[in-house]
Amino acid sequence: MRSKLVAGNWKMHGRREMVAGLLSALTSRLPQGVDVAVCVPSPYLDQAADVLAGSGLLLGAQDVSECDDGAYTGEVSAGMLRELGCHYVIVGHSERRLRHGESSQRVAEKAAAALRSGLVPIVCVGETLAERQADRTEAVVAEQLAPVLALGAAQVERLVIAYEPVWAIGTGVSATVEEAAQVHAAIRAALAGVSPAAADGVRVLYGGSVKPETAAALFAQKDIDGGLVGGAALDAEAFLAICNAAVAV
Ligand code: PEP
Repeated sequence: MRSKLVAGNWKMHGRREMVAGLLSALTSRLPQGVDVAVCVPSPYLDQAADVLAGSGLLLGAQDVSECDDGAYTGEVSAGMLRELGCHYVIVGHSERRLRHGESSQRVAEKAAAALRSGLVPIVCVGETLAERQADRTEAVVAEQLAPVLALGAAQVERLVIAYEPVWAIGTGVSATVEEAAQVHAAIRAALAGVSPAAADGVRVLYGGSVKPETAAALFAQKDIDGGLVGGAALDAEAFLAICNAAVAV
């Protein structure tokens, strides 16, 4: 039985005061029965780790280098994130694929680097609106997943996947329950091609304008194991409501 996971992606938002305030608000009312994580901007990971120590709220980063430590100006290694107290790291978010030209191969290398350092990568996949309209959703997701699944069963069984349709991110327009469930089932089938343990154990999150009002119906689907939440993760009430929706199902 997979436990639900709700992860907040703060993107490039926050200052020290906001980090302290939001994290305290979350830890003071963190529900039991669901795994909860916050992926904060890199400059605030250290501060966040201090606030979160012993709270049960897990820390994540938003990106990682595919390289181990070395001459890579501006990059952050998985070993550094681990030392800062991260448990999760997002890789392949569409904002990085689109803005920074990250290929699916590079995303898989980032996932592998994260796993080498004991981090759990949250691998994001998802189609653009044009790709959905061209009826290419499942093909695109399969292409994006292929290099990750090629890492092999031992690696794949340790990661998390997030299905995030690009057209739903930050737009207020979520995929319908049916649209999301269909893609999650396809991802689950792809995982079954890797190993039975991957099919049974890998959590597949939905992301894209998840709100307190829409979370419960999404999380009730058998192949939707929680959410990756952007905008609503910046509001303690909304984020906690989404976490509680995961507990309720
Ligand atoms: C995201 O950025 O991963 C995301 C899902 O954002 P939002 O919830 O704001 O759509």
